[in-house]
This record gives sequence, C-alpha cells and structure tokens, in this order.
Amino acid sequence: MSEVHLKPLSNSMAQSTKMRTADVVVVGGGITGKACALGLAQLGLQTIEIAPDLGQTCPNPSGNQWGQRIYAFSPSSQKLLARLQIWDAIDQSRLQPVQDMRIYGDRGEKNDFLHLSAFEAGTPQLAWIGESNLIDHRLDQASRFQNKLERVSTIVDKISVDADGSTLHLKNGGSIRTQLVIAADGAHSAIRNNIGINASEESYSQSALVTNWLCTYPHLETAFQWFLPGRDIVAMLPLPGKQVSMVWSTSPENATDLLKLNQAQWHEQLSSIANGAITKQLGELTLNSIPAAFPLRRMRAKRFIGPENHPKVALIGDTAHVMHPLAGQGLNLGLRDVAVLLNILGNRESFRSPSDRVLLRRYERQRQGDTSALLWVTDKLKKLFSASSSTERQLRNWGLGLVNKSHFIKQRLIERALGEIDFE
Ligand SMILES: Cc1cc2nc3c(=O)[nH]c(=O)nc-3n(C[C@H](O)[C@H](O)[C@H](O)COP(=O)(O)OP(=O)(O)OC[C@H]3O[C@@H](n4cnc5c(N)ncnc54)[C@H](O)[C@@H]3O)c2cc1C
Repeated sequence: MSEVHLKPLSNSMAQSTKMRTADVVVVGGGITGKACALGLAQLGLQTIEIAPDLGQTCPNPSGNQWGQRIYAFSPSSQKLLARLQIWDAIDQSRLQPVQDMRIYGDRGEKNDFLHLSAFEAGTPQLAWIGESNLIDHRLDQASRFQNKLERVSTIVDKISVDADGSTLHLKNGGSIRTQLVIAADGAHSAIRNNIGINASEESYSQSALVTNWLCTYPHLETAFQWFLPGRDIVAMLPLPGKQVSMVWSTSPENATDLLKLNQAQWHEQLSSIANGAITKQLGELTLNSIPAAFPLRRMRAKRFIGPENHPKVALIGDTAHVMHPLAGQGLNLGLRDVAVLLNILGNRESFRSPSDRVLLRRYERQRQGDTSALLWVTDKLKKLFSASSSTERQLRNWGLGLVNKSHFIKQRLIERALGEIDFE
C-alpha cells in the first residue's frame, strides 16, 4: 500500500463525517467537480463529493448586477450540461449566444482581421457567454435532489492507494473507502502532486484582468478580440442587453495599475488602446462590476490517471490542464473530460468495476489528444502574438488576413472551438 499525505488547505469548513464507503469520490467543488459528481450519481454510482466550499448553495444570479466570473461555454459544454439536466433549468435570459467572432491584429489595418461566423459555419451559434454562478447554482440545486450523491464540506488530508481502491482521510476526522477517486481539485491539485503525477508548467508572466461594462452601442452578438502591440490581448465578450465582459491579458504590474483606475481613467485607457477601435465598436463604456485579476499559466499533467501499479485515480479539469484564456476553452476542455469519463463509465462492460484499469486507460487515451492539441494551439497563438520583431508581426497580421479568406481553415477552427462530443 502506498500512502501519501496531502497538505491541508487553510480555510476548511469542518463537518464531521463517519467512516463510509462509496463507489466513487470526487475531490473538488469547481464546475468540473460538481458536474462530474452529479453525472456519476445519475449513472447510479454511489458518489461522494468533497471540497471545502460545498457548505452552501451558490446564489442564483439575478438583477442588474452581473457576476465577476464570466465564461464562454462551447456547444460541447452545453451538450453535457443538457445531459445532466442543468442547461434547460438555467435562466436563458442571462445567457448570450455568440454569432460572430472578430479577431484583430495589432496594426489596426483593415485586412488584418479574422472573422468567424455561425451563419457561415452552418451552426446556430458559436458559443454562449454567461456567469459561472448560473451553472454553479443549478449544479448545487440538482445535487441536493440526487439521492446517490453526498456532499462533504471539508478537505482531503491523506490518500492511500492500494490494489482494490483508495482510502481518503478527511480533515474533519472522517475517512472514506472508495473504488475510484476523481481529482478535480484544481490547478494546484494536492492529490495530483501527492500521488506523484508530474506536470509541465510555464508561467506566462501575465495576469488577466476581468470586468463587465455597459456599452452604448449594440455588441451585435459578437465576441471581439484585439491583439495589442506588445503582448497584451483585450477580449470583449457579449452579454445580454448592452453589456460586455472584458478579459485583458497584460503584465502583472499593469494589471495592478488597471485595478486602481476610476471610471474617468478607464475611459481614457479604453479610448487610447487599439487606436480607439474598442470605443469605436462599442461606444462609451461604463464599469458594471468590480475588476479582478488572475495570474496566467500553462500546465499539463504528464498522466491523467495514476499511479501506474494501481491507477485508481483520474484527473479532470484544471487538475489535468491549464491554458491561457485567449481561446476561452479551459473549462470547456474540463467539461469534455467529464463527458468522456461519464461515457466510458456509463457504457462499461458489466464485469468491469468503475476503477478497472482498462477503463481508466481508455479515458486517458481519449483525453490526451484533445488536450495536447488545444494546449498547443493556444500556446502557439499566445506566443505568435507576443512576437516583438516587426517582420514576425507583419507576417502574423498578414496570416490573419490570409486565414480569413480561407473557408476551409475557418471551418476547421470553428470545429475545434465547438469541441463536438458524442454521448453514447
Ligand atoms: C481570466 C480567465 C478567463 C477564463 N475564461 C474561460 C472561458 O471563457 N471559458 C472556459 O471554458 N474557461 C475559461 N477559463 C478557465 C476556467 O476558469 C477554468 O478552466 C475552470 O474554472 C477550472 O475549473 P475546475 O473545476 O477544473 O477547477 P477549480 O474551479 O479551480 O476548482 C477546484 C476545486 O477544488 C477544491 N479543492 C482544492 N484543493 C482541495 C482539497 N485538498 N480537498 C478538497 N477540495 C479541494 C477547491 O476548493 C475548488 O472547489 C478562464 C480562466 C481565466 C483565468
């Protein structure tokens, strides 16, 4: 038996729990962990979800105040959430379908842009933009009524993996014996580190500043992205009504300065960057949420299951991969992990237990290709647009215009962004 110790988190909410057993334990209370736990319980597996923040139901967003965390949800995420019976329960008036994406090079010239359109691609929409809380709230609600799912608000202190399963020792003193552990405990996963799965990591030395704006011109259901001279990227994602959500990737120092701006200073900033293209497109912008900044990095776990001798653990979401938000795909990729895992476990042969090595290898094989491709493309795009030499920049802007003229390449780009996945 190999025994590993996890570093406790500081803000644990203690909740006493007795020694118990479960078919599967999901560690993590982010959207991927919650979706996975609900899906496993819906498959009929006795499931326990553990995270320090599961103590209360996330409030349902309402009114004019919009949440700070806004995501672009791809059709593959919509499909999974529909299968979990979450999507139709969401207040659709708080979701904005995206019909077009316009991506501009840093010279602000007419031909340096790429236009992707749902109409041209023959799809009803390219994505939806919505609040993280919208999904969190519905997942919390659905979990309360799922009798195969139990939630424990604490952290995992210690995990022992052996040939038959794992034992999780909890900070609150309880312990759980389970066949399979799903690690969804995020980018700094203690479970991943402690079962010895290495990860390749790189800091982008950038932060993403996020905030919401009211705009005076209609956004035309379009997601805009401007690559600025230097390494900055500004994305404006459409929200219902005349609102947009901004993701500005910039140096950590600039992000700190931007966090301190008042409305008048913001006005000056936004009218000066991208040759004034942002305000020309969206009109006057008024702050509609408190800005926040997040450090950016790339990370990929070497294995998505482990350990080799007893692979009784599967990694999903940011525990397995983290990417730059320029393509808005991190959570979507994590939800595709969940969809694939549910497909494999839901269709397993009757003689296989959920932690059967063959099933876990199947999961790892299916997820590694999609993950590597998306991480590679996002990373290369990021680096291409960070190029400082004028030749590289000219070539890149010229390339944008060239891709824009190729229906074939644009169709492939859209297919990747839609991230189709079939449920069996
Ligand atoms: C600025 C920005 C914009 C983004 N925009 C998009 C977008 O538009 N579309 C998109 O798809 N993605 C986007 N992403 C990526 C997305 O935010 C992440 O991929 C997603 O939040 C990861 O979710 P997760 O559930 O895997 O992990 P997390 O949300 O990090 O959840 C981890 C959970 O594990 C719990 N935990 C940690 N340690 C333990 C422990 N020892 N025991 C128990 N529980 C533990 C935590 O409390 C938490 O509940 C963006 C990211 C950034 C930074």
